[in-house]
Order: sequence, then C-alpha cells, then structure tokens
Amino acid sequence: MSDAVLRAVGLSRTYTQGPQPVEVLRGVDIEIKRGETVAIVGASGSGKSTLLHCLGGLDTPSSGRVEIDGQALDALNETQKGTLRNRTLGFVYQFHHLLPEFTALENVAMPLIIRRDARRSALGEALTALTDVGMAHRLHHTPAELSGGERQRAAIARALVTGPQCILADEPTGNLDRDTARAVFGVMVELQKKAGTAIVVVTHDRELASRMGRVLELNAGRLTSAK
Ligand code: ADP
Ligand code: MG
Repeated sequence: MSDAVLRAVGLSRTYTQGPQPVEVLRGVDIEIKRGETVAIVGASGSGKSTLLHCLGGLDTPSSGRVEIDGQALDALNETQKGTLRNRTLGFVYQFHHLLPEFTALENVAMPLIIRRDARRSALGEALTALTDVGMAHRLHHTPAELSGGERQRAAIARALVTGPQCILADEPTGNLDRDTARAVFGVMVELQKKAGTAIVVVTHDRELASRMGRVLELNAGRLTSAK
C-alpha cells in the first residue's frame, strides 16, 4: 500500500478551445499522504479547480502523471477510472448539488443506492454520515428546507458515505457567511481526526486555509508552499 493517496508529477494542463491556448498548470507536483489535510489557495482563475479535477480523474492533464491510491490513471480506461474514483475519493463543490426532491437522508444514501447497496443499509450508512457532520436533527428535510451551512454539511456527508480515503473540496464554503464557513471547516477537521480521511480543500480564505496541515499556493501555473 502506497503511503500517498494522491500523487501528481509534472502536471500540465493547457486549454486549447479558445483562440489562444491557455496554459493553466505548468508542471505541478503534489503528494497527499494518507490522513493529511491540505489547503490550496490562489487567485480566481489561477487553476485551482483545474488542478482538483485532474487530481480526481475528472479531467485529463496535457502532460504529467496522476496516481490515485498508487494507481496511474493513464493506465486505466474510463470504467476503471470511475471505479477507482468511487472507491477512493469523495467530492464536495461550492454548490451543494443535492437533489431537490429528496430528503437529506435520501440524498446522502444516493451514492450507495447507485452502487446497488440494499436501500436499508444505505439509509443506515447515511444516518451515520449525517450524524458525523452534526445533521442528525435534519434527516427528513429537503434541500430547500435547509440553511446554506446545513446543505454543505449534507454535501460533505454524501462525499463521506462511501468511506473515501480522501475528500476533494472545491471552495465548499464559498457561499457561506464567515461563522457558518468556520463551522463547516470544523466539520472537515473533525472528520480527519475521527476517520483519518485526507482532505484537499480549495479556498480563498487564508484564515480557514491555516486550519489545514499544509497550505499550498497556485500561482502562474505552479504550486508552492504558502507557509
Ligand atoms: P480557479 O478555480 O482557480 O478559479 P480554473 O481552474 O477554473 O481556476 O480556471 C483556470 C483558467 O482556465 C481560467 O483562466 C479559465 O478561464 C480557464 N478555463 C477553465 N476551464 C476552461 C475550459 N474548459 N476551456 C478553456 N479555458 C478554461
Ligand atoms: Mg474554481
């Protein structure tokens, strides 16, 4: 077993759709060890989302290599990549992407139901995950009946329910007020302590970033240590 849950070497990503190619990543190296927490900061448009998508196997780098749980992505087909991603990673985004017609409990159970787990056991796991993020009192509310912070907690629970080794979170508190953002970050810090889940979180907020074990800054396509 590799001690890195994620590794990227010499990662470059150039977008070629527009009139001029845009070189977003220019040789990024990063290694996320098991149970580690890392924040990635950087100006808007610096390529933070692009980096997270490449690390999560949702986008293919122009050059360089990504390994998830010791497995090189370029050696896998799309189905194998999907399986590895679902087994190893959880994703949280700025917008919660909860399904409006389902309750918090059903939304969180969804990744397991899609995976064809029995409904009863899926709902049991969802209850545990929602309890872990402090949402045991909001199980049967739909997203419209939840506050912004509660929706993001539910989104974290949904990322957590499959037991991932690492959560990739792209500005998960970008839409929340300061205090709510702090509380949601607190949930992620607790998660790491309790379940040993590694966390890579993109944020604008330096104060929140400093609660992670390491802070890296993306600037001009390169990643450097920010503290
Ligand atoms: P961040 O998340 O740091 O704000 P992004 O990774 O979203 O940055 O984007 C980095 C740069 O790449 C931006 O200049 C953006 O316009 C460009 N970009 C992102 N996605 C695409 C795409 N699909 N096609 C072309 N350019 C893109
Ligand atoms: Mg972004």
